Formats: sequence, structure tokens, C-alpha cells
Amino acid sequence: MSASDPHPETRTAHAAAPPDPGDGAVVPPLQPATTFVQGAQDGRSYARDQSPAVEPAEKLLAELEGGSDALLFASGMAAATAMVQALRPGDHIVAQHVMYWGLRRWLSGFCAEWGIGLDFVDAGESGAIAAAIQPGRTRLVWVETPANPTWEIVDIAAAAEAAHAVGALLAVDNTVPTPVHTRPFEHGADVVFHSATKMLNGHSDVVAGALVTARPEHALWRRVRGTRAHGGAILGPFEAWLLMRGMRTLYLRADRASATALALARHFAADSRVNAVLYPGLENHPGHTTAARQMARGFGAMLSLRLAGGREAAARLPGACGVFLPATSLGGVESLIEHRAGTEGPDSPVPGDLVRLSVGIEHTDDLIADLEQALDRVG
Ligand SMILES: *Cc1c(COP(=O)(O)O)cnc(C)c1O
Repeated sequence: MSASDPHPETRTAHAAAPPDPGDGAVVPPLQPATTFVQGAQDGRSYARDQSPAVEPAEKLLAELEGGSDALLFASGMAAATAMVQALRPGDHIVAQHVMYWGLRRWLSGFCAEWGIGLDFVDAGESGAIAAAIQPGRTRLVWVETPANPTWEIVDIAAAAEAAHAVGALLAVDNTVPTPVHTRPFEHGADVVFHSATKMLNGHSDVVAGALVTARPEHALWRRVRGTRAHGGAILGPFEAWLLMRGMRTLYLRADRASATALALARHFAADSRVNAVLYPGLENHPGHTTAARQMARGFGAMLSLRLAGGREAAARLPGACGVFLPATSLGGVESLIEHRAGTEGPDSPVPGDLVRLSVGIEHTDDLIADLEQALDRVG
């Protein structure tokens, strides 16, 4: 690579733009205007659908993913629901059973009420997606890999092939790996989704979502654009500015957190208080071979532990930690620990003995020591 074709680390560190030639500022400006005078060079009218505040972060994200168009939304859920609302009654979706629980719950209710067919499949099983697809009816296949909270791996290329065979789009939730660790378009995906609230922003201080596409001319993408413009679930200027500020350190944070997650996974894999460590970077993980092929330079910052002490120990572990903070969400610089079955409630499919860890950028030894003492205390 030459200096004129820099690496993504370099592009993100520079916010993918040279300093303002006028004032020389080395960080991008914050533009809060809601309306724009007619006849100006950029031809903007009103900020709901034409805000210059969100465009730098959209352009950078599209570039990092290798897509051609990106849209930021007011939250991850606003982005995901905009994608699904682009479908029409009678259409059909194939989605993954193991996925972000908030979206799984919303999908079930929405599709039932609006006459959209919906099948949940075990997308980690080869052939499961192809078997659930309905020719002439399936418009969207939605997968998440590694998938919350067991970090099951989906073969993106195989999912794309199954979707494309019937003219459906493949959308991949890339929140956990980020483009640092997986670039779904390289494996055939059509749409990439992010809860930008998580690793992209990385500082637990912005709620945001994004959709990126490799097929901006597709009718469904045009409907998604319309949904954002008219539904109005846009990201505010300050949040967009904070997101760009967070993304400038994405590669450093993601590499560091991923390396620490692997060290934690290896350390606790041999611990008798832990029945299983779920992490795609471990050779005994069922998706490891696929993960090694489609994840570059690391396996991400998320792992789960299944405790020998069962549900009771798992429910108590977060409260026994001191460095890991007992909180939901993921992808921040501070490590978090959560008992997912407790958070999701009685109809949760998550095993009761599972705790989910979001690894931050603290010193690895401090995180290991914290879990060691907490496991001793919960027995
Ligand atoms: C958090 C999350 C979402 C939902 O995004 P919000 O920004 O909370 O609306 C979707 N998918 C995954 C994997 C998530 O972690």
C-alpha cells in the first residue's frame, strides 16, 4: 500500500478527511444546523434527510466495511426495524434463532401483526438457512455472527449463496466483530447492520445504529432510505460527532480487546469452576474453522462462561466482580459482565449457568484476577 492508499487504521485515525484548509482544525467540525439556505453549493434543504452532521461517520463506516452507501439511525433497533419495514405483507424472512434478543422479540410480534412470514433457524447448522428459504417469497435473510450470547458462528458465504439463489438479500449483524474482525461484504453479504452503540463508538456514551449496503440501487435499500427520511429516526449532530470521535480509535480498541478476550478464554478453559468457555477463538468451539476463515486478525471481544456452580453461581458472579462492571451492553472500553438469562426473563433460551463478558481495554492480569476472586466467592 502506498501513502495515497493508506490502511484503514490510518484513515480512521484521521477521521477519513484532511484538516479543514481554512482554519486548520485537525478534528472534524460539529454542524448542528437544521435548515440550509436555498441556492447554496451543496443543495441541502432540511436536516431530517440531509444532515451534513452524520455524513462523515456514514462515509467512514461505508469505507471500512467496503460498502457503497451507509445510513446512521437513532439506535441499532431503529436501523434494524427500518430494514424489516422495507418488506411488504406476504414477504418472508429467515432469521437466526440465536441473536440479539431485543430484535428477536420485536421480529416475532411485528411479522405476526403485519402478515410477514418468519422462520427462525439454527444458522450455525450448515444447510439450515437454505432449507427454510421459500422461493418467490423470502426477501431477507438476517444473521448475526458471532451470535449473542453463545457466539455461534454463521458461514456468511454459505448464507449469501442460499439467499441469492432465490433473489433475497443477506443482512449480517456485524456489531460484535466490527469491520476490524469481519468484513461481511467480502463474503457475499448485501447489507451490514451495526448497533453503533457498542464497539464502533466504544465509550458507552452514544446510542446509534447503522445500515451499510453493497447494493444501493436495490428497491429495498431505497425503501430503507425513505423510512429514515420520513420516519425520522435520525442520529443527532452531537451523537454523530461523538461516534466519529469514538471510531477514530476503533482499530486500537478492537485489537486490544480481542487479544485480551482470547487470553481470558484460554485461561478459564482449564478452570474446574467453569464447565465451558464459549469463544470462537478456541479450537474446540464448533464454529472455529469457519471463524478462522471469515474473521481477520482476531475473534472479537465477547465471550461467555458456563459455570459449574449452575444458575445460582452465574446469577451471583456479576455482583462479586470489581473490575468487570455488572451491566448490560457491550463493546465499551470498560469490561462488563452480565447474567443474560436473568436479564432476558423466563422465556429466554439462554442457559441459566451462562455469564456474558464484554472485554474492554483494561490490563489482562487485572481482569483475570477479578474473575478468579469472584469465582472463589460464588463457589
Ligand atoms: C445492542 C445490540 C443491538 C440493538 O442495538 P441498540 O443500539 O441497542 O438499539 C442489536 N444487535 C446487537 C448484536 C446488539 O448488541
